Amino acid sequence: MCEHHGADGAKLVDVSKMDRRDLLRGLGAGSAVLLAGCATYENPVTGRGQFIIVDEAQLQQASLSAWQQVRQQTPQWNNAAAQRRLETVGRRIVQAAGRGNQSWEFVLFNSDQKNAFVLPGGQVGFYRGLYEICERDDWMATVLGHEVGHVTGRHAAERYSREIATQTALQVAGTQINSQVAMAALGLGAQVGISLPFSREQEAEADIIGIRYMQSAGYDPRQAIPFWQAMQSGGGSRPPAFLSTHPDPEGRIQRLRNFINEQGWGPV
Ligand SMILES: [Zn+2]
Repeated sequence: MCEHHGADGAKLVDVSKMDRRDLLRGLGAGSAVLLAGCATYENPVTGRGQFIIVDEAQLQQASLSAWQQVRQQTPQWNNAAAQRRLETVGRRIVQAAGRGNQSWEFVLFNSDQKNAFVLPGGQVGFYRGLYEICERDDWMATVLGHEVGHVTGRHAAERYSREIATQTALQVAGTQINSQVAMAALGLGAQVGISLPFSREQEAEADIIGIRYMQSAGYDPRQAIPFWQAMQSGGGSRPPAFLSTHPDPEGRIQRLRNFINEQGWGPV
């Protein structure tokens, strides 16, 4: 939709006035406010151009209200040892991601779900069910690397932007994005009964970003393979919740194997 303005190092590039007028005509009245930030963003972590029309303040605000809602709905798991372990692994991963000076919150939820999520504001939710199968810190690092990869990959902003553009184009919601869609776009679809998982491209990207982070944080990247194998076999006929909010492309394990071997971290 927006013109990509090249890989000249600019992080956020406004479209030209002409482009903006065309967009306005295409999308109809009422959408001007949403187009104010219309840009192709070149992600410094991946080098991939992304369509992002939400600004960071909007995203932080949406994260905060989604987080408050989840915390009201889901009991916390009060286990001091588990909390220390989660924070220790989590801090090492965010340091490795170069995001140590941003604020992060790590919360364990008392639920059997084998799932975890992260909001773009740095709020990380980790469910007891997933914690209990993470028999090694390397396995937790696999999950947390993947989740932090969604943040640095700006996947929620990208998904949120697509939703806004779609809604605007359909003239369903005007400038008011309803909170269910906002929640779903932030990756909490399961909590509000809307399923809007990350795309396959984003999942594959989070896997690769995540394994780089876990490796530079000093964890064993080869352990990502048995972790994903355990996730796939552990679910029986009903796959773990993680795989429904983070769909599992068939080739996940194979792609990770290839990457690990290419990096010389293998063989696996
Ligand atoms: Zn994911």
